[in-house]
Amino acid sequence: CKVNGRNNKLFYSPKMNQSYNDLILLEGELRKALANNDLALYYQPKVDVKSGQIIGMEALTRWFHNEKGFIPPTRFIPLAEETGIISQLSEWVIREACEQNVSWIKKGFKPLQIAVNISASDLQRVNFARTINQILQETGLPAAYLELEITENSVMQNTEDCIQTMNDLREMGVSLSIDDFGTGYSSFWYLRKFPINHLKIDQSFVRDVTTESGNAKIVKAMIQLAHTFGLKVVAEGVEEPEILQFLTEENCDYYQGYYFSRPTTSDNFEKLLEMTQTI
Ligand code: C2E
Ligand code: CA
Ligand code: CA
Ligand code: CA
Repeated sequence: CKVNGRNNKLFYSPKMNQSYNDLILLEGELRKALANNDLALYYQPKVDVKSGQIIGMEALTRWFHNEKGFIPPTRFIPLAEETGIISQLSEWVIREACEQNVSWIKKGFKPLQIAVNISASDLQRVNFARTINQILQETGLPAAYLELEITENSVMQNTEDCIQTMNDLREMGVSLSIDDFGTGYSSFWYLRKFPINHLKIDQSFVRDVTTESGNAKIVKAMIQLAHTFGLKVVAEGVEEPEILQFLTEENCDYYQGYYFSRPTTSDNFEKLLEMTQTI
């Protein structure tokens, strides 16, 4: 059941009210989790297709609930978006990711770009670019080592303000990427309109490129299209060597996926860096 806002409560049947109540409970718990630092970031490497080197990482939020156990982001992120806690959550995620990245750079690892997922409503907040600037100042992370991932659909809302904020962020030196590319409504016109650096091809296309010729054609076309616009392409959800082979042949720039590494704790990610970089 989808809850579009608190005012819709009356329209739900008793059974749906039950799950509505669950959502309200969960909302309270998410607020507590944020206050108590019960959330954690996991990191997944972004890898250069040709060289096999780690060129960056994506931070993904994890919530390990005392009683309920692991609650996936696909459950609590939409909740955070509907209840408005997302602004606090995003700020926490960005700050945490910047601090972590600074700490790796200080340890002597090669500086890498850290990517953070943001929501549509983040881009629509008037002070968003300023908040990011402040976090960069406070943590000491150079803007060039931060990237924000925005889903295709979220940039379509309130477009003029979004573009202004995106321009401000780019002027500061922050990179932007379009996430889940191909799953949205108008995949093409914003390629020239929006100031973006990377396109991330959604896993639903990448997963079957070796078995479905239709998907192979789509991915191939997306890579060429992105390159025409001077954008780098990241393929998501690479689980098998055959898919990496395909991406190599099609000149895809970067990939992420279980084949190289699942998202993992900061400690494990650091071990990965130690194994792959010589300090
Ligand atoms: P996303 O941004 O598209 O992130 C990629 C998702 O695919 C992650 O799921 C990641 O764990 C998963 N993944 C990576 N490689 C593979 C693979 O090879 N195979 C498969 N099957 N999956 C793979 P996760 O961490 O559960 O996150 C789900 C979604 O939740 C994310 O999708 C993102 O939209 C959202 N999300 C996660 N953390 C945050 C956050 O801090 N803020 C916001 N706004 N959204 C977040
Ligand atoms: Ca993402
Ligand atoms: Ca994605
Ligand atoms: Ca996704």
